[in-house]
Amino acid sequence: MAGIYIHIPFCKQKCSYCDFHFSTTFHSYRLDMISSICKEIKFRSNEINEPIETIYFGGGTPSLLDQEELTLLLTSIQSSYTVIDSPEITLEANPDDLTFEKLTNFKSVGINRLSIGLQSFRAEDLKWMNRAHTAEESLNCIPMAQKAGFSNISIDLIYGLPNLPLVEWEKMIDIAIQLNVQHISAYCLTVEGKTALKKWVDTKQISVSNEDEQSDQFDLLVQKLNEVGINQYEISNFSKINFESKHNSSYWKGIHYIGVGPSAHSFNGKSRSWNVSNNTNYIKALSNGQNWFETEILSIENQFNELILTGLRTIYGLNLDKLKNICEPPKTFWKTLNQFIDCNWLKQEINIISLTEEGKLKADHIASELFI
Ligand code: SF4
Repeated sequence: MAGIYIHIPFCKQKCSYCDFHFSTTFHSYRLDMISSICKEIKFRSNEINEPIETIYFGGGTPSLLDQEELTLLLTSIQSSYTVIDSPEITLEANPDDLTFEKLTNFKSVGINRLSIGLQSFRAEDLKWMNRAHTAEESLNCIPMAQKAGFSNISIDLIYGLPNLPLVEWEKMIDIAIQLNVQHISAYCLTVEGKTALKKWVDTKQISVSNEDEQSDQFDLLVQKLNEVGINQYEISNFSKINFESKHNSSYWKGIHYIGVGPSAHSFNGKSRSWNVSNNTNYIKALSNGQNWFETEILSIENQFNELILTGLRTIYGLNLDKLKNICEPPKTFWKTLNQFIDCNWLKQEINIISLTEEGKLKADHIASELFI
């Protein structure tokens, strides 16, 4: 099994908290970018021998693409790789791009899973975030997508927002539940360098929530979603049964994937590579036959630590046999592991180690203590 990630580096405007790679001035080279990504898809076809089971359009804003551009990209994949009969094909979408006609077009080219970046249902949040959509669009796009025939919809929400009392967050969770989506990704707001948000926080124009507030909001989310059968299967991801994201689960299970498009990352089990994060340089490199990516061979330590990090984030847990296949863990690893089991942050079932409810709040700390 393998997956392909396609990075679409275009956005209408810059959200104040975002440090992803994208450009808002892409109109003059939009077609060049699509044909460069098609070239990369073709060039790299010998890197994957397994059938492609998942295709993921991420960004940036893939919902800016039209039917013809999506068809070009999907046809390139179909003609260069072996793709299973019914692959999971996800498209990240922003509410302001979604009309009934556009949704129908997405469906007709083969998109069968939408990941919609709602982020919040409150106009005041969307305003300081500089999102391109309104609170009304956040609410309306889901029934519209359902009417267009989508039955596998994920929404993104952000908690830990400035001035977000617990009662307001609870209202957001209730709305999300009422929308009857299959999957919810919820991320805590983080203040990334080189963003408008960072500047506002540094100059005290905005104050972000504290750790206790974030943790109360997260606990409430887990509890309320659990009550309605939307279960946490990864630290930030929740789904109804059988609606886990196959593509993202494959990252956490260490399955191989290639990422195409500027700034996209790839992983083949032994090495990682990442494409240049510059749209012009990417297009030039692809058309001149120059290198457009850098590669890092993962050391034994990196492979070991990576498996701990990805294993502990999910309900699938950390497989000790797989860990021992990389290298025999040192004595300090077993000592720390047993300490975490004794204090009820980790639990062990045969050869699988996973986080307890208490441990989920300390996942990164626990993983880093187990690193070699
Ligand atoms: S739409 Fe997404 S990728 Fe684009 S700026 Fe906003 S958060 Fe970042």
